[in-house]
Amino acid sequence: PASPASLDAFWMPFTPNRKFKQSPRLIVGSEGLYYDLADGRRVLDAIAGLWCVNAGHRHPRISAAMKAQIDVLDYASSFQIGHPAAFVLAQRLAEMAPAGMNHVFFTNSGSESVDTALKIALAYHRARGDAARYRLIGRERAYHGVGFGGISVGGIGRQRSTFGPLLNGVDHLPHTLDLARNAFSRGEPAHGIEKADALEALLALHDPSTVAAVIVEPVAGSTGVLPPPRGYLRRLREICDKHGILLIFDEVITGFGRLGTNFAADLFGVTPDLITTAKGLTNGAVPMGAVLMRDEVHDAFMQGSVSGIELSHGYTYSGHPLACAAAMATLDAYTQDGLIAQSAATAPYFEECLHTLRGLPGVIDVRNVGLLAGIELQPWAEGAGTHAQAVAQHCVDQGGVLVRSVGDTIALSPPFTLERRHVDQIVDSLRAAIAQTAR
Ligand code: PMP
Repeated sequence: PASPASLDAFWMPFTPNRKFKQSPRLIVGSEGLYYDLADGRRVLDAIAGLWCVNAGHRHPRISAAMKAQIDVLDYASSFQIGHPAAFVLAQRLAEMAPAGMNHVFFTNSGSESVDTALKIALAYHRARGDAARYRLIGRERAYHGVGFGGISVGGIGRQRSTFGPLLNGVDHLPHTLDLARNAFSRGEPAHGIEKADALEALLALHDPSTVAAVIVEPVAGSTGVLPPPRGYLRRLREICDKHGILLIFDEVITGFGRLGTNFAADLFGVTPDLITTAKGLTNGAVPMGAVLMRDEVHDAFMQGSVSGIELSHGYTYSGHPLACAAAMATLDAYTQDGLIAQSAATAPYFEECLHTLRGLPGVIDVRNVGLLAGIELQPWAEGAGTHAQAVAQHCVDQGGVLVRSVGDTIALSPPFTLERRHVDQIVDSLRAAIAQTAR
């Protein structure tokens, strides 16, 4: 097992009485862009918690809304009875979502959003009398959470092999990492659209009339920050349309302003049938996810329930009042306080500074879309991820900057409130860490 002192330590399952105080890595407080560590240091949180605290930690608006909610209504079910906040929040989300996506299914996490979206996609086809469509297509190197649906469509071999066999009839598109390298952030790679045509190849293999849905992260996050080639998502949309297949965007990371627009769908100009969200929805203050869907998808499965095809899905905490209160205040911060606009405004400077790291010894690639970035490093001979872990460790120890290593890539997704001086601190700390870990 990994040493608890390592930044990469995986603490779960938690063991009581572990001598956790020995680790300086424990976070005991937070404020704005910063975390307070157990050893008294304050570090700049350049990953926004776990890609979720987009508005900064303990945002006053969000904290106040949660405190106020607790004194009024603690819990109400979303089955047979309900409460107003969930409807108001659904309305707010529909207003933010691409046109025509006016229905919302509340969950408690990204994993639940993914499994919910996959189930909605299957229910949609069955409600339309198209029971032959059961296949789901994901993509290699995709992360869609840890539910059985999510690991089935996800592209992480380790997750699939440990728990398989998983969902029946799942297949995966090739990833686009080779094309993403050295290309996107100075203009989307013009080449690479043929990677989307791999979908046609898969469909030829499987018979398109058996395929229910295709799910992709518009920009893959946890597997190394992989922007799509230019036209890739649009091409997927066209192919799905041609064959009556639903397209799902997993926007658990890219949603709510991370790329400078409400959703990645807006940035890339492609509207999927379903969007999965979580993380930034409540700014990390309390667990919540949501699946947004097009009217037609919703109407079909609602109609289906009349004919006995029921979605029969939902969680005890779907639309929890406290989460709704947090989410509404978070959306206020994004829209009324202009944080999404701020994300877009800071992105060019962030990009410019990050790209000064390109070409340093050991740096394979620098990629970003908006305030989502990855610096891919040459792995050490010791194994995959070792160099990136050392750089991350260095950044927090020497530079006071918390970053995340995902495989061989250093991931950055800072809160939208960061200023130029914070960008400078992040990049300076990375530059020093890269220099000191060079071999
Ligand atoms: N989908 C994507 C794209 C994600 O990045 C994540 C989390 N990193 C998930 C799903 C799963 O979310 P959660 O951990 O909230 O279940």
